[in-house]
Amino acid sequence: MIGCLILLLFLCVTVPLLAAVVNNISKPSKVPHLNGNTSSQIDNAPFPYQNPRLPKHIVPLFYIMKLNIQFDKLITDGQVNITLHVTKPTNFIVFHHVLIDIQLVNIYQSRLPTIKPIRIDGKQYNSSLQMFYIKLSSNLAVHTNYTLSIKFTSKVFTDRLKGLYLNNYTDIHGRHRHLAITQFESVFARLAFPCFDEPGFKTPYKIYIARPKNFHVLSNMPTITERSLTSQIVEAEFATTPPLSSYLIAYVIGNLAHLEIKSNSNITLRIWCSPNMLNYTKLAINHAKIVVAQFENLFHMKLNSSKLDMVLAPNYLSGGMENWGLITYPESSAIYMPVENQQRQTVISTVTHEIAHQWFGNIVTIKWWNELWVKEGFATLMEFVSEYKLTTMKQAMASFFQSNHLAALKEDSFFASHALSMPISTLEKIKANYDSIEYAKGACILQMLLFFLGEKTFLQGTEHYLYKWKSKTASNLDLWKSFDKVRKYMLSENPISATMILHYKDSKELIIIYN
Ligand SMILES: [Zn+2]
Repeated sequence: MIGCLILLLFLCVTVPLLAAVVNNISKPSKVPHLNGNTSSQIDNAPFPYQNPRLPKHIVPLFYIMKLNIQFDKLITDGQVNITLHVTKPTNFIVFHHVLIDIQLVNIYQSRLPTIKPIRIDGKQYNSSLQMFYIKLSSNLAVHTNYTLSIKFTSKVFTDRLKGLYLNNYTDIHGRHRHLAITQFESVFARLAFPCFDEPGFKTPYKIYIARPKNFHVLSNMPTITERSLTSQIVEAEFATTPPLSSYLIAYVIGNLAHLEIKSNSNITLRIWCSPNMLNYTKLAINHAKIVVAQFENLFHMKLNSSKLDMVLAPNYLSGGMENWGLITYPESSAIYMPVENQQRQTVISTVTHEIAHQWFGNIVTIKWWNELWVKEGFATLMEFVSEYKLTTMKQAMASFFQSNHLAALKEDSFFASHALSMPISTLEKIKANYDSIEYAKGACILQMLLFFLGEKTFLQGTEHYLYKWKSKTASNLDLWKSFDKVRKYMLSENPISATMILHYKDSKELIIIYN
């Protein structure tokens, strides 16, 4: 995701809207309506689970999600079946949701000939933790698959740019149109569907989306088939995703126009926007083709998808979002009118950054938000690598210095500066972490490592890391181990690299060596 500077500009012009959003967030959400299969809610009892993180021993393995988007009511009626197992005997389940009406919860052992629900002795919701707790009458057995089945209704928001929210635009005939689009990073998938909303839980998703038949729908994966549910409602079935964290799930419902080209590796690249903007998206889609080829060659790893969509939305919170196979942007980040030179660089940087995330963040994902800088630093560094390979080192160094080095020094000089990796547990700290330390300083540290190791070794280490942790999560230590592997001795034995990596990662206000 691209955040800070664009977000600051956005804040200046949208204070009233965001004030409303903040007010809404600070209000405790209503306790969801509960009419599950058994028993009563644990009324007025202290919430039985107090850890701000979900337990690690309850592991989601697969999601099947059926969503019915209803524009007239501004709701999604949904059902999610989550296959899970536990790694130690457990008599409870806890998962995330916020502002969702939970209508029915069942849990049963998967793949038995008849469904025998496990009795639920109580349910409770905590609005601060945004967690729903289910007390079971008996223990779940270790390494046995269970299905957690939840019927729910969530909102299509009009007062915030998170979860699934509504955009309005005008088509070429001057008609007002609607577009529903998701923004789930960092902790907003839970606004759209009940889930285990932490990046460390990476599972495949099978998604079905029903919508009015005059709307088009996109999601992370290609559409397999479409079927009519009624004369007015059509449901799309999408191919199963590779293992993904919840923040990378995305879907868009609207009547957008699009351009389509093929990448060198035969991936379908499409860009979608309101029809009157289509002529200004050629730079973005052509540059997408260039950087997909560039990164596939640099990392010797193809994008594991037959399509990559990019959608432009008029109302958008950040600079761009790297959802797997469905990148979203504000129009301001991907529209280029040829007279605006500065805007040309914005489009190129943003497209490069979000496509770099398909490898750094999507194929290999951080375990927790305290290592946000690894994915954001890498995506920002790849803007620099891409630029010096397409232009000159001198030009790329100049833009990197202006965009990142100065920003990192400035942010690091503030009293509130912090180390790249710092303990994060609360929702507020997760949201506040999207700053120039994570993006610009993270990129500067990685750029120092690139110059120290040399491009060949740096890219070999990166490739080793991507292949070793493909479709999984990894920590920054795993990255250093990959560099160790290709250097054939431990980085910590070298005082220069040890200083760069260990001290910079855990400290603040250290001077960046500008090479
Ligand atoms: Zn990013």
